[in-house]
Amino acid sequence: MTKPKIYFIDVTNRDGVQTAYLGLSKLEKTMINIYLNEMGVFQSEFGFPTTRHETLYLQSNIELAQKGILKPLRLGGWVRATAKDVETTFRLVPDIKHLNLSISTSDQMINGKFKGKKSKDYILMMMIDALETAKALGAESVGVNAEDSSRTDMDFLIKYAMTAKEHGADRIRYCDTLGYDNPFTIYKAVKTLAENVGIPIGIHCHNDLGMAVANSVAAAMAAIDSGQDAYINTTINGIGERTGNADLVSTILAVTKSKGFMEQYPLGSPIDLTKAWRMAKFASYAFGVPIPINQPGVGGNVFSHASGIHADGVLKDPYNYELYNFTELGRGEPELVETGTRICSGEYSGVSGFSHIMGEMEVSFKDADEARKILELVRYANVEAQKPLVQEELLFIAKYPQIAKQLLTLKPLDD
Ligand SMILES: [Zn+2]
Repeated sequence: MTKPKIYFIDVTNRDGVQTAYLGLSKLEKTMINIYLNEMGVFQSEFGFPTTRHETLYLQSNIELAQKGILKPLRLGGWVRATAKDVETTFRLVPDIKHLNLSISTSDQMINGKFKGKKSKDYILMMMIDALETAKALGAESVGVNAEDSSRTDMDFLIKYAMTAKEHGADRIRYCDTLGYDNPFTIYKAVKTLAENVGIPIGIHCHNDLGMAVANSVAAAMAAIDSGQDAYINTTINGIGERTGNADLVSTILAVTKSKGFMEQYPLGSPIDLTKAWRMAKFASYAFGVPIPINQPGVGGNVFSHASGIHADGVLKDPYNYELYNFTELGRGEPELVETGTRICSGEYSGVSGFSHIMGEMEVSFKDADEARKILELVRYANVEAQKPLVQEELLFIAKYPQIAKQLLTLKPLDD
């Protein structure tokens, strides 16, 4: 038997975008998928297939995957565990291959949300129905989520996971929806679950008590100690509901750099951490949320030293006071900030300014007609983003105008 491993399922484009006061344009979501793919993340939970305004974005990204542009990243949708939602999913996004089905399993939520209208048996029935529908409609992999696992009675959680396994689920997702666990409780819970059910474990942790990364690491240990693969859920810069999720870069650092960890708990596929800096900066810009100065890996102060003993030590040998090197995170390149005249893209951009911006990136167009078409797409992207596009976004539109067009098309109330 091959040794079980750790994989990452990033949920920025699902949990991140459902965060209050925050959001991403469809182009920004696409860029996030591209960054995740470049980094070597296993799967992106890329959106909500039953949500009408996501349809063209989801289809476009699947098309990018089919063309080999978003490869080997897996694109997985999140849906409620009802057969009806699964049917809607395959009607709106017929080529979707990977799904996570979610339903609440704790007494608190079953009683508190469904107000006595749904019993535990009914929850199991809904999940089976949704799961079988997903498999019948062509899903290649289906993860089944137990929302509020940390407040779910363990006997029921085992029964739920066992039922999911018997009906073809590929993974069970242990969701610490409220960030209620600590590393010791989640280790025990995931170990019990994995040992009793024998199924790969998804791990979804929130940061309400400041332990999302620690809990993810502990839960991954538990899964692997029980002979099962661990699929850790993360978001870029930890952006997610309320206090957020396990930060992707912090979690990668934790499982690759913490004392003696990686030798026992290896990664399932190589991660290119040198993409971290650009990716975190992009997500920060796209969400409009600054990166905290002390954020692991990508914060402003991670490689800064002021006090005498530390500065002297780091000058002699960085490893005196730095656990990892900035180049490992893709840092170290100088960043030029224009302090004079600036031309940026906008929803009312004209040909002259646009050609100037593209010329600076050494992009040329075959004729004025082509330039105008790309400019029109850039304008629409700006309508959605409401902030100037970054170079990578402009290059994406210039390179894949047809996909960009599809991505930027919104058709409200169109049946
Ligand atoms: Zn969540």
